[in-house]
Amino acid sequence: MNFADSEVVASILMENGFGATKEVEQADLIFINTCSIREKAEQTVRKRLTEFRSLKKTKPGMLVGVLGCMAERLKAQFIEEEKLVDLVVGPDAYRALPNLIEEAETGQKAVNVLLSRDETYADIAPIRLNSNGVTAFVSIMRGCNNMCSFCVVPFTRGRERSRDAVSIINECKDLFENGYREVTLLGQNVDSYYWMDEEKNEQVTFAMLMERVALISPLLRVRFSTSHPKDITDEVLHTMVKYDNICNYIHLPVQSGSSRVLQLMNRTYTREWYIARVDRIKELIPDCGLSTDMITGFCTETEDDHLESLSLMRYCHYDLAYMYFYSERPGTLAARRFTDDIPEEVKKRRLQEMVALHRLQTLASMQKDVGKTFKVLVEGFSKRSEDDLYGRNDQNKVVVFPKGEFKKGDYVMVNITSCTAGTLIGLPI
Ligand code: SAM
Ligand code: SF4
Repeated sequence: MNFADSEVVASILMENGFGATKEVEQADLIFINTCSIREKAEQTVRKRLTEFRSLKKTKPGMLVGVLGCMAERLKAQFIEEEKLVDLVVGPDAYRALPNLIEEAETGQKAVNVLLSRDETYADIAPIRLNSNGVTAFVSIMRGCNNMCSFCVVPFTRGRERSRDAVSIINECKDLFENGYREVTLLGQNVDSYYWMDEEKNEQVTFAMLMERVALISPLLRVRFSTSHPKDITDEVLHTMVKYDNICNYIHLPVQSGSSRVLQLMNRTYTREWYIARVDRIKELIPDCGLSTDMITGFCTETEDDHLESLSLMRYCHYDLAYMYFYSERPGTLAARRFTDDIPEEVKKRRLQEMVALHRLQTLASMQKDVGKTFKVLVEGFSKRSEDDLYGRNDQNKVVVFPKGEFKKGDYVMVNITSCTAGTLIGLPI
């Protein structure tokens, strides 16, 4: 999501006469787009800022700005804590950037962290940064209304709002016409996407939006993230079945396998509800790739709760899991209501156990694919060799194969001959 936001920022700046450079030494203006989701993410930002300190000494006119969630969370306090920062700009204030830069150029510190109820940057065509020219992110909504007790997002990104469906379709059409072959529709909770199409007098749900994007061309692949287990509908699953170009892959974060912990997390579903959703996915889309997010050591988590998380992972057979230990975030419901009472070494030990289980599961999931044939969208050369290409299959698994006459943006049928824990290796057929 930050990646997509940086592309909006680049577009706003480009309109105002700025250009991008990959060489930090050449820059007169540096923006760092930040994440507050865990303390570690914030530490990474602060470390990165120290790298700019010596540069700023040699280039006194250079401006440094902090964008995104950390700017929103810390506001003007950021400027007191990090003296080299000249601008602090929250995720809904990017249109004000040209004025804020002017203000900062006079030597004043510039801050705008106002959150909006309706800003979606719908009319801004993002400038694609570091693009492979084949796959792109398209933001369909901003903010979040789900108050998961551990999560800082509702505070840093504000209320949920959906973007005008027409502008989304136009952006996807434009990408397709410019050679892109895959779009990932992005939102914190895509299933609660909702737009009133006044022209057609029609309420557009996420499934309908996805269908409209899929209809742009059978050659345009559609992905989406993130689905919330409480909201993912059968309508979405049926639409996935109906269109070959909507990828059979769902990121369905569960966070914990214990209903007691899920309740404390305010996820508004139980272990049983989640399992029923996974069963329904597998029933309607048997070859669907499935991934999740997991948190270990949330407040009061017992050894039994942890074992329930592991058993849920065994049940769901995730192809991919993003796993973290709980990091208390100031201002969240959990920080206000509960004690962060699980010692760090216990959180980390549980995380290690989870990671170990997941490694075994991913390897097994990859091995199951050996011998199968997949349609792969080529994204570029493999990291290891320019004689090989890499791309992803429907289920979002990376596939590497000899390049032959194929090129970026092609669809290639690849027969899988072997695998590692993270890559399928095959031959084109
Ligand atoms: N909207 C998505 C959802 O509800 O699944 C998740 C978005 S959040 C930006 C990404 C992931 O970060 C979450 O799914 C959760 O696993 C993790 N996360 C969020 N807050 C956390 C915290 N305080 N400590 C550890 N992990 C956290
Ligand atoms: Fe955070 Fe929950 Fe919203 Fe996801 S759904 S962004 S975890 S509050």
